[in-house]
Amino acid sequence: MDFRLTDEQLERKKEFYKVCAELEKKKPASYIGFESQFNDEEGWNFHRYCAREFGKRGWLALGWPAEYGGTGTMMDKVLLTEARGYYDLPGCDIFGVAMLAPTLLAAGSDELKHEFLPKIASGEIMFCELWSEPNAGSDLAMLQSTAIRKGDEFIVNGQKTWNTGAHFADWAFGVYKSDPNGKKHHNLTFLLCDMKSKGITVRGIPYMNGSHVYNEVYLDDVHIPAKYIVGQENEGWAVVNVLAAFERSNIDMVMGLVRAQEDLAKYCNENKRSGKLLAEDPLYRNRISEIACSIEAVRTLAYHVADQQNRNEMGLMDAAAVKIFASELLEKFAHLQTDILGPFGQVKASRWAKMNGTAEYNYQGCFVPIVSMGTNEIQRNIIAWYGLGLPRMK
Ligand SMILES: Cc1cc2nc3c(=O)[nH]c(=O)nc-3n(C[C@H](O)[C@H](O)[C@H](O)COP(=O)(O)OP(=O)(O)OC[C@H]3O[C@@H](n4cnc5c(N)ncnc54)[C@H](O)[C@@H]3O)c2cc1C
Repeated sequence: MDFRLTDEQLERKKEFYKVCAELEKKKPASYIGFESQFNDEEGWNFHRYCAREFGKRGWLALGWPAEYGGTGTMMDKVLLTEARGYYDLPGCDIFGVAMLAPTLLAAGSDELKHEFLPKIASGEIMFCELWSEPNAGSDLAMLQSTAIRKGDEFIVNGQKTWNTGAHFADWAFGVYKSDPNGKKHHNLTFLLCDMKSKGITVRGIPYMNGSHVYNEVYLDDVHIPAKYIVGQENEGWAVVNVLAAFERSNIDMVMGLVRAQEDLAKYCNENKRSGKLLAEDPLYRNRISEIACSIEAVRTLAYHVADQQNRNEMGLMDAAAVKIFASELLEKFAHLQTDILGPFGQVKASRWAKMNGTAEYNYQGCFVPIVSMGTNEIQRNIIAWYGLGLPRMK
């Protein structure tokens, strides 16, 4: 692909940065990092506000076909993600906009597309993901929650876990065992579900940094109309694979690093240890430069995936590669930042914190993308057997 941006793309990029810079001025003081959108009412309301602002400009439907309100290309979507990352802004529902919408476009019925795409594009509804269970994470196909068909609805029972943002989400996409006697990978159904349905209980899982982002979701005799199936009954595994590729290739989590790295370089240029500027320490210089190169590499990888998505050619291997590279880069950055800040790296956002407490936030949060969305060990397995033709491990 040609990695140069066209004049039109450069113009759009300018517009994205301009709007994001304005939105940043309205950001609540307590908002730091991606997870803040789920942590409290203030963060969630700001997320919704930004979503409506992007929605009215058509920016939540970048790369969609025009008949569903689409504008621009997948490349524009990446450029907007860069701008949002730079200003640390939410407003693009990772579950609805980044994962479900492209899955509905690929595998949803016309009825579902017409019902959900306009609401996702306007920022009116937000989703969460009900996949993992206490005994089914990496081996998701072993899940035990059931969705038993009764006439024109499914009766759903079971427990899901680690559900990011489920305490605020309006709707959920989930996967359930619909044929208890069926063969593995041909016994699951992918369903959309209104989170206000009777029988749903959401309980928070406190994260180690004290935030409330993750949840357990209990489903007791929840009635879901059969029209909310995505794909075919008992063939939900195929839909899971389509959605997982969009989930893993999403670069939201890493685009904030461009600004974070600029801020860290500035900190090193302005602060001394033992009478010497941090910026003169050869080891720090080396590590910051290495991260700068990796950020450029991940940006290039993201452009490559966007190009493939434009041509409907994204593979499982590319998605796994983005997921591994981006998550491990975040971890590397968090370690570097806490090393450079020394004891200040442990101070939460407050008047005593350096760099607005981002080091503490980044360090405690950098484990999340390594495990969520399918662990990096699993992604390496996918690359080995699917991408490189090595034997599949039992
Ligand atoms: C912060 C966070 C947010 C999350 N958000 C969501 C969400 O919104 N919705 C949702 O549905 N789920 C979510 N998850 C769940 C996530 O997808 C699972 O945690 C993940 O898939 C791992 O599953 P597990 O926790 O059951 O670990 P396990 O599958 O039990 O794995 C334990 C360890 O064994 C390793 N392992 C397992 N199998 C293999 C193998 N075949 N080869 C090599 N190593 C292996 C794993 O890599 C891991 O290190 C989230 C998880 C976290 C931590």
